[in-house]
Amino acid sequence: MAKKQKIKKKTSKKQAKKPFKNNATKGNKSRAISIASVNQNKKMINSKKLLSLKEAEKYVYEAGGENGLKIFKYLIEKDVVEESQLARKLGVEKINTIRKDLYKLFSKGLVSYIRKKRGKKAWYTYYWFANSDILISALKQEYQDEIEQIKKAVDLNKVEEYYTCPVCNRVYDARTALENDFKCSNCGNILTHIDTEKVLETKLERIKELEKKITFLDSFVRKA
Ligand SMILES: [Zn+2]
Repeated sequence: MAKKQKIKKKTSKKQAKKPFKNNATKGNKSRAISIASVNQNKKMINSKKLLSLKEAEKYVYEAGGENGLKIFKYLIEKDVVEESQLARKLGVEKINTIRKDLYKLFSKGLVSYIRKKRGKKAWYTYYWFANSDILISALKQEYQDEIEQIKKAVDLNKVEEYYTCPVCNRVYDARTALENDFKCSNCGNILTHIDTEKVLETKLERIKELEKKITFLDSFVRKA
């Protein structure tokens, strides 16, 4: 146990300076079990279809940039890929370059790795895979947050009278507007009536749309 930890430390120190020795292109029996289980889990989600969703692509792009998105797409396509092989396939020369992009995705939970020790040396080989389930829950959370925000911002059961200044966009409730003689207290312009019903309608429509998106995301997860 102690020995193992020692190796671990050594490896992570080396990580920054020196790429891991790559000898993983040949078969490795010991990786078969865990990678198989990853693959099994992947089958539960229709990941390729998920990435056809603009918002999904945008989320990955924002997390890992253009390279991150490329990596993520490739991992979705191939399931589990050894690190240096991933770099080669994507035309990245330095392993540290691809590792930087992988860590961006990793910090958002979008990818994970399985680490395998090779031979007697302290080298580890990294096998990366995409976490579509994390992407789905992150998007669902975004939609859910927006729904909560809308609900908090407007009382959907109540239609109130509002007025706005067409020049500085300040909003006044009906009483204040009346007190100000329907003039903006900031710039003196005549206030205009806001069609609150229409605003509410738009908000309700947006909520419905977001709820649909959540249901749609759920449809990517296959029932066991
Ligand atoms: Zn004004």
